[in-house]
Amino acid sequence: MSTDPKALYQEVILDHNRKPRNYGELDHPSHHAEGVNPLCGDHIHVALDLAGDTINRIAFHGESCAICKASASMMTAAVKGKSQEEAKTLIHEFVDMATGRLDVKNGTHIGRLAVFSGISELPMRVKCAILPWHTLQAAFNAVSSTSTEAEADPMHTPLGDA
Ligand code: ZN
Repeated sequence: MSTDPKALYQEVILDHNRKPRNYGELDHPSHHAEGVNPLCGDHIHVALDLAGDTINRIAFHGESCAICKASASMMTAAVKGKSQEEAKTLIHEFVDMATGRLDVKNGTHIGRLAVFSGISELPMRVKCAILPWHTLQAAFNAVSSTSTEAEADPMHTPLGDA
């Protein structure tokens, strides 16, 4: 792996596009949601099973660009086995990082997801990167669908914890 942030970003995006983690559908998930980003054409589904408060299984599928797919792949890997609260903390940190509101050095849970920190300088791609996270939040909130262009636009409204 390279130590140059841009090269590392490219490598991670390519790797997760070639071999997306947790790609597919779940039978009878306890929570699911679909998310669309009309600006790019991203359309994904996120499904998960909560066992107690733990995310036992999680999967995603859909049609999306490379950035959205890589973000979804890394997200499912990051939250699998975590509690709902831990996952929500990660959602907030990722969205804040991607929108330039969180310095990655202050992101205590972000870990390898820091490869996306440069996305805040690419406004057209920010929504691609945060769509999976917004869709996961919608699944927790039992909202069946979300859009980056809806009133729940994460660029303009804080994520709800309802
Ligand atoms: Zn996209």
